[in-house]
Amino acid sequence: MSAATSNDPRWNLLDGTLPMLVGGELVTDGETSDIVSSRDRRVAGRFAVADEALVERAVATARGAAAGWAGLTGFERGKYLLKIADIMEKHAADFEFLDAIDIGKPVTAVRYSDMPVSLSALAYFAGRAQDLGGRSVEVGDPMVSHRARLEPYGVVLEVLPWNGPLWTGVQRMAAILAAGNVAIMKPSELASASFSYLASLIADVLPPGVLTVLNGRGSQVGAQLVKHPDVAMVSLTGGIETGVRILQDTAAQVKRVSLELGGKNPNIVLDDADLDTAVMWSTMGAFSNSGQICVCGSRVLVQRGIYDAFSARLVEAAKTRVVGDPLLESTEMGPVVGEDHYSKVWSYIDGAIAGGEGELLAGGQRYTEGPLSEGWFVPPTVFGGVDPSCTIAREEVFGPVVTLTPVDDLDEALSIANDTRYGLASGIFTTSVDSAEKAARELQAGQVYVNQWFAPGGLQAPSQGYKTSGLGGVGIEKYLQTKNIFIRSTPGNQ
Ligand code: NAD
Repeated sequence: MSAATSNDPRWNLLDGTLPMLVGGELVTDGETSDIVSSRDRRVAGRFAVADEALVERAVATARGAAAGWAGLTGFERGKYLLKIADIMEKHAADFEFLDAIDIGKPVTAVRYSDMPVSLSALAYFAGRAQDLGGRSVEVGDPMVSHRARLEPYGVVLEVLPWNGPLWTGVQRMAAILAAGNVAIMKPSELASASFSYLASLIADVLPPGVLTVLNGRGSQVGAQLVKHPDVAMVSLTGGIETGVRILQDTAAQVKRVSLELGGKNPNIVLDDADLDTAVMWSTMGAFSNSGQICVCGSRVLVQRGIYDAFSARLVEAAKTRVVGDPLLESTEMGPVVGEDHYSKVWSYIDGAIAGGEGELLAGGQRYTEGPLSEGWFVPPTVFGGVDPSCTIAREEVFGPVVTLTPVDDLDEALSIANDTRYGLASGIFTTSVDSAEKAARELQAGQVYVNQWFAPGGLQAPSQGYKTSGLGGVGIEKYLQTKNIFIRSTPGNQ
């Protein structure tokens, strides 16, 4: 691709096999899988992949480490997390590079989003390790006191998605370990570079077995771990079909499962919205990380009075977005993750064009020459006048594709917004407090953004997807089970 980035010394990071971590030791022998760069479709490196025997060994080692880790104080566990944060921070530029190569995420996005989110998660959960809570209630008998004690499950499996492999992985790992569980992390086969690299940096930080990193296909390594009787709890961030599969695979064991799944998130823009604000955030909401964020605002429901002005501005923003080499500082949007996903995104775009699912207003054409034709690049694409029943307005494309649907009023917008199996995120742009409050009450989603898209506070106010977008707990609580303790005092000794 760009000559400016071909001499980057960080290419050396990809010289060897990126490892897994089992029992405190880095594993690079055995099978490997290629890291195919999204920016030019070339093999850039490789990472180690687990076989059945290694998975067995890893679970046994994790199980062996569980009691010792749970027996540490929160302060002690927290100190380990802070040590990991220090190491990560020192290698921040390496993580930028690896995610840019592996999944096409612009270096600036890793620097200003994924890295701070990861570091703050480690610091936050280091503190939470000392404050796990557990309430106490009056139980109606003065001789009996109650307290709830939150306890870890033991071995927790965390199955990661490819769209934010570093921050989703670090955030969940920090919560699992802070809660007193040992963690088995299974990165996506499409995005194993940054977490494998993290494993190589922190292999000797934690007691052996407390953190395990196993790479491989979901249908093999993932499924083996999910079904393993010594894995007490499974947490997935991924697609709905995978979530259903995991529920099926764990049903007979009545295993604890938590699912953070997909979305087709409605963004309502009312006539009284501040146009600049609505356009700025809606552009970010639609095209950040090439639309590969579960909470992206991928269907915009625009009131008719502001429709033309909003549409013109959003189209202009889409056409002027800087698409390019994710290693360049100037790039605002990189490629999508890989060949299969590229084909999937184009099948939605091509299908919408062929089926007349609205008017193509921006993008929608493949890059056929120049550097952008070398990678899995998809231009920011806008369809206008889309009927809400169309496939492009109903299914999660997970690419830089946004639909605009005109609506008469807030009631119509809310009715279309809620007519979906998803319920992850939602938003509204309005200057009316009443409209904002009504939307906040009536939108059926775990998050409602008012006059912004995306939100800080994912750690302090973790969200749960409604409907098929989520299941199970959130935050550190999802990795803890509650024991109610009832203590009867001896008469006379109260
Ligand atoms: P995916 O479901 O294809 O894969 C997710 C993970 O599951 C991967 O690690 C994969 O190897 C593993 N896996 C697949 N089959 C498995 C099986 N049978 N057993 C065990 N593990 C298995 O999802 P993806 O394409 O990597 O991620 C994109 C999806 O994730 C989108 O739907 C997106 O909305 C969702 N997502 C949700 C959130 C959230 O917080 N709600 C965050 C990021 C992404």
